[in-house]
Amino acid sequence: MIERSQFEAAYLGRQQRTRRLLADSDIDVALISLGRELPWLIGYQAMPLERITCLYMDAKGTTRLIIPKLEAPRVRALPGLELVPWVDGEDPFELLGSMIRDSKVVAVDDRFMSGWLLPLMGRAPRVSFRSATAFLNPLRRQKDALEIEMLGLAASAADRVAERLIRGEIAVQNRREVEVAKDIGDALRQEGHSGVNFAIVGSGPNSASPHHEPSSRLIVPGDALVLDFGGTYSIDDEPGYCSDTTRTFVVGEIPEGFSELYEVLYRAQAAAREGIRVDMSGKEADLVARNVITEAGYGEYFVHRLGHGIGLDEHEDPYLSSDNLLPLEAGTAFSIEPGIYLPGRFGARIEDIVILEEAGVRALNQSPRELVVL
Ligand code: ZN
Ligand code: ZN
Repeated sequence: MIERSQFEAAYLGRQQRTRRLLADSDIDVALISLGRELPWLIGYQAMPLERITCLYMDAKGTTRLIIPKLEAPRVRALPGLELVPWVDGEDPFELLGSMIRDSKVVAVDDRFMSGWLLPLMGRAPRVSFRSATAFLNPLRRQKDALEIEMLGLAASAADRVAERLIRGEIAVQNRREVEVAKDIGDALRQEGHSGVNFAIVGSGPNSASPHHEPSSRLIVPGDALVLDFGGTYSIDDEPGYCSDTTRTFVVGEIPEGFSELYEVLYRAQAAAREGIRVDMSGKEADLVARNVITEAGYGEYFVHRLGHGIGLDEHEDPYLSSDNLLPLEAGTAFSIEPGIYLPGRFGARIEDIVILEEAGVRALNQSPRELVVL
């Protein structure tokens, strides 16, 4: 069990790294509102209301949360965090404007609503604004020990759902995709997730659609079955970390041509887990799996990037994609999820969340990847 004190220490450590980066980047103030940077920094997720909640941080050490007074009781105390409540009828932009008016450069997160930024710009006309999200991404990419532990707990909980499926404890044959999706969602909660983010159930020809929305189609013998699911795993009221895993099955009997496709996919996913290294670019990492698939003749059927970063967000930096030329760093978390999709026939995907370490990739998901006939 992770204690509150460990979360507190993690928030304070991240604030310290942020302040150092502020000083090094010539940014006077960071303003964080609805973005995940807020729970990452103070463990509090703002309600997406029209009333503004905004964290003010400067390099000198001031950390204050401007918050509607009625929301303030939800914030848990943190050393050094000052609460500045505002009440209906007050002008929060005048308040915020007075705090930043003499600054040169202020960074705001990408979820800072234009309905807030525009009046704020009016109150502080000489300030130049930048993206705090872009500025904080390099820090948020680096997962600290607590985040790696949380991602591991989330992945293990998702693995237990995959294992229930493998054991046949969640029936699939002669049931509708939506029914199976509901059972997977229920199982994610039973295994400790606080929320279900998605449960993709693609059967038969639907398995060839990577982001298929579960439908009323009956799952029948001879179907390929792609199950991609994930949720949010949290401890007490601390912000939750995401799980995301995919396993592919066949129902009753293996459709013709599917074993060959799956064997190539399995090799490609293993090659990526074994071959991706620190300092490879996102593009090079993508190619480790893509080359195996292309050489086997399925290149045109692998229609998406190899993976995405994961943490407080389902999709975040870094991306394993042909347009990411930045080197992958040790301490980052991402998915490895190649897929092959033959339109009108069937598709398959295998997805694990992994941590990139100096020695290579360590998979957090450990449920069996071999093709299982349900
Ligand atoms: Zn997924
Ligand atoms: Zn994914």
